[in-house]
Amino acid sequence: MSVFTPGRRYQPPFMPFKRQPLKKRALAKIELAIKGPLFGCRMCGNCLLQETALICPMECPKGLRNGPCGGSTPEKCYVDESRPCIWYKIYERSFKLGREAFLLEVLPPLDWEKAGMESWGAVFDQAKKIGVKNIVSHLSSGEVDSVSKTLDSIFQPVRQPEWWQGDSLYHAPKYTEPASELERRLKAGEFVVAAEITPPTSTNTDKLKQNIELLKPHVAALNFTDSSSAIPRMSSWACSKLALEMGAEPVMQVTGRENTRIGLQSNAMGAAALGLRNILCLTGDSMVLGPAPHGRMDIVDLDGIQILWILRRMRDEGKYLDGREIIVPPRYFLGAAASPFASNMKFQALREQKKVNAGAQFFQTNVVFDADAIDEWLNELAKRNVLDKVFILIGLTPLKSYKTAVYMNNKIPGIFVPEKIMKRMEAAKAKGNEQEEGVQIALELIEKIKTKQGVSGVHLMTVGWEEIVPRLVKEGLGR
Ligand code: SF4
Repeated sequence: MSVFTPGRRYQPPFMPFKRQPLKKRALAKIELAIKGPLFGCRMCGNCLLQETALICPMECPKGLRNGPCGGSTPEKCYVDESRPCIWYKIYERSFKLGREAFLLEVLPPLDWEKAGMESWGAVFDQAKKIGVKNIVSHLSSGEVDSVSKTLDSIFQPVRQPEWWQGDSLYHAPKYTEPASELERRLKAGEFVVAAEITPPTSTNTDKLKQNIELLKPHVAALNFTDSSSAIPRMSSWACSKLALEMGAEPVMQVTGRENTRIGLQSNAMGAAALGLRNILCLTGDSMVLGPAPHGRMDIVDLDGIQILWILRRMRDEGKYLDGREIIVPPRYFLGAAASPFASNMKFQALREQKKVNAGAQFFQTNVVFDADAIDEWLNELAKRNVLDKVFILIGLTPLKSYKTAVYMNNKIPGIFVPEKIMKRMEAAKAKGNEQEEGVQIALELIEKIKTKQGVSGVHLMTVGWEEIVPRLVKEGLGR
C-alpha cells in the first residue's frame, strides 16, 4: 500500500518505448523511487496528481483519466473486485477538500511517447519559464488563490498539450440546423422513445431486419450496441447502416474499448460520410466481462469523455486530433451514457457535467427502476446548469423474470432494483405471470417519467425482447 493513496498499484510501472539519454533515465529512476512508494506511481509520463487530489488515477484497471466508469461503487471496482474504485476515492477526497472543480477539466489520453519516462523534466522547464523567484514569492504569500494560480500556471501547460487543450468549460455546438432526425424531434420538444436492438451473432440479418421493421414505426431512434459486455457481435456501424437503408433512424455506438485514437477518427469520418449522424460515445464494458481469452484489460486508449472531445472538435473546429484540417467536417449529434445510480449522485452529476462540457448533447441512462429516486440526480444536474444543455432519455428494461431482476441488481454495475419491485417479481413468479408483471412495472415507470422536468424521453433496453416495444409505446404513451 502506498502512503498517500487508498488503493495499491497492481500493475507494474510502464517502460519507455525506446532507450532514453542517461540524464532522463536517472531522473525517471529518482521519480519512481519517490512517487512509487508515495502514490503508487506507474510512470505514465503524463502526471495528473495535481488534479486528482494526489491519488494516482492509473490505479484504475481501465486506465481512465477523466473520472469513474458507470460501474463505480463506494465498495469496489467492478473490473477487479479485490480493489476499491480508485475514481470513487478520488472524487470522495476531492469533494472533502473542496477540490471538485479540478475534476471538471477534460484531460487528454496518454501520450505514449512519454509513458515510462519522467514527468518532472517538463515541470522544471515550465517552472524555469515562469521564474523561480516569482514562484517562491507567490507560494510563500500564504494566499490560497495566489498559491493555486501559481501551481496551475506550472502544471496546466504540462498536462494540456497543444494537441489537446482541454478545459472545464461548456462548448456549445457550432451549428443550428439539426444534424439528425432524432435531434430535430428532440429540439421540437417531442417526448421521444429510443429502443435498443441487440445485433446478431452471425452474418444472418433476417432477425435484425425483422426487428428494425417491427420497431421503426414506434420509436424515434434505434440503438445498436457495440459488443456490449465485451461479447463480439455484428458491429454497431454495420447494423446502423442497414437501419438507415431501411428508413430507420439509427444511433451508432462507439466504445473506447474497441477503438484506438486512429480507429475512432477514421470510423467516425466514414460513418458521417455514410449518413450516420447519431453517435453514442462510451468507454465500453471491461474486457473482463467478456469470454476468454481476454484481450488487454488494464488500459483503454480513449475513454468516453475523450471520444466526445475528439468528435466535437472534428465537427465544430474541423480538426483531427493531430491538428490537421478537415476540409468538409462531419456532422454529428453526440450522445453519452449516464448512470444515475452508480456511486454517489453528486459524483455522477459532476461526471455528467464533464461529458456535456466535452460534447454530449443527449444522454441515454443506465436502466432505472426507481422513478422517484432519479429526482435527486436531476436536481444535482440542475444545480450544475446542465439540464438546458442536454436531452435526457431515461433507460428502462421490462423485466422478463424474477431471475433477471436478481441478476441485474447483483451483477450489473450501476443498476439498482428496489426491494418493492423485487417482491412484486417474486410474487409474480409464484403466480406464473412474471412477464406481465414486468410489463406493468415498465408502464408505471413510463407514466412517472414522462411528467418529469428535464427528461426528454425513454430509452428501452429490452435485451432481446424487442417484440414488447410496440405495446410499451402504445400503452405507455398512447401512440
Ligand atoms: S498520474 Fe502518471 S505520473 Fe502521475 S502518479 Fe500516476 S502514473 Fe505516476
